[in-house]
Amino acid sequence: MGLVLVVNAGSSSLKFALVDATTGERAAEGVVERIGEANSAAQYTGRGERQIEQVVPDHGTAFALARDLMAEDGQPQPIAVGHRVVHGGDELTEPTVINDAVIAQIEACVPLAPLHNPGALVGIAAARSQYPQVPHVAVFDTAFHATMPPAVREYAIDRNVARDFSIRRYGFHGTSHQYVAAQAAKFLSKDPSELNLVSLHLGNGASACAIRGGRSVETSMGVTPLEGLVMGTRSGDIDPSITTILQAAGWDAAAVDNLLNRESGLKGLCGDNDLRQISERVASGDEVAALALEVMAHRLRKYLGAYSFVLGRVDAVIFTAGIGEHNAWVRSAVCRDLEGFGIQLDEVANADLGSGIQQISLPDSPVTVLVVPTDEEYAIAQQSYALVG
Ligand code: ADP
Repeated sequence: MGLVLVVNAGSSSLKFALVDATTGERAAEGVVERIGEANSAAQYTGRGERQIEQVVPDHGTAFALARDLMAEDGQPQPIAVGHRVVHGGDELTEPTVINDAVIAQIEACVPLAPLHNPGALVGIAAARSQYPQVPHVAVFDTAFHATMPPAVREYAIDRNVARDFSIRRYGFHGTSHQYVAAQAAKFLSKDPSELNLVSLHLGNGASACAIRGGRSVETSMGVTPLEGLVMGTRSGDIDPSITTILQAAGWDAAAVDNLLNRESGLKGLCGDNDLRQISERVASGDEVAALALEVMAHRLRKYLGAYSFVLGRVDAVIFTAGIGEHNAWVRSAVCRDLEGFGIQLDEVANADLGSGIQQISLPDSPVTVLVVPTDEEYAIAQQSYALVG
């Protein structure tokens, strides 16, 4: 058994899980929230459960708390610590053992992921001080998309500007897309190299990915996780002129950024970003909420169509993450009336899902449609273990 401590550190939170890298089983998991605020709190589940409310001033203290909780619970030491890092830039395209040079490279990517990479960096520093004796591995959300061809990576803007600001399409959610693609291949008893897949990761953040032979060839997020699908609070694709219209009207960059990242998407369209609430509103006849769902589904269908052409042939479409795994309406709206393109949804199977990987297309459907639960923590544990185990 190889237990890996998987760490997902945000600017004010620390999620951790002690994961068996061979089975994915959790020996323990927990979260420390509102780090640096007066009302910080921690939740822990292992052999026992703990809820703690105490001031946690910084990530170092949060890690010490996590380590103590696991020690008090009788958990063994991890053999490695695996860190989720959102942006690896051009250089960090594989799981990488962390040393000072790698930390400098992650720091260099901060301008590309100002909301995410700083949190990962403080998490890494804190974890290294609490677990100095084991190797630390960084696993990057961007890494899986390093195989995208140049024509997919480039924006059609002045090449010099693009170069000076490292502006190109990187893509995110790579750990999840790669994991569900591998799971789908296993389920279909195929080698990943034989399969063309469209993976739809639909959580609060959402992205589509075209996967040929186990490699990402196109994905919907770009230089940041803002491009592409309609998300919980992010707009996804817009006409870029919207930003200049607002700036000409006096909005500054921070206000535009806030609008597009935190006040748009489903929330912008209908005021709610959680699909459970939106679905309840739709069920009670709320037309604003219904339109928000239609806008999201329409964008998804456009991407599914585009990626089918990018791939030339699709063997399976994968739905994953909170919405993909739990919302039958969205899956049905995406796959409806696509028999002409080989997608024959089994509405009964779609509406009444079992657990684990589920096929929701009819047995003879030329394109298989699957619901595949994602597990990014297990994937990070596997990749860390493969590197240092
Ligand atoms: P994150 O990107 O934060 O990891 P998730 O993958 O948890 O997000 O997805 C969040 C979205 O999934 C929300 O819109 C939520 O309504 C929806 N969702 C999550 N779990 C369920 C569930 N059991 N039933 C219906 N919808 C769910």
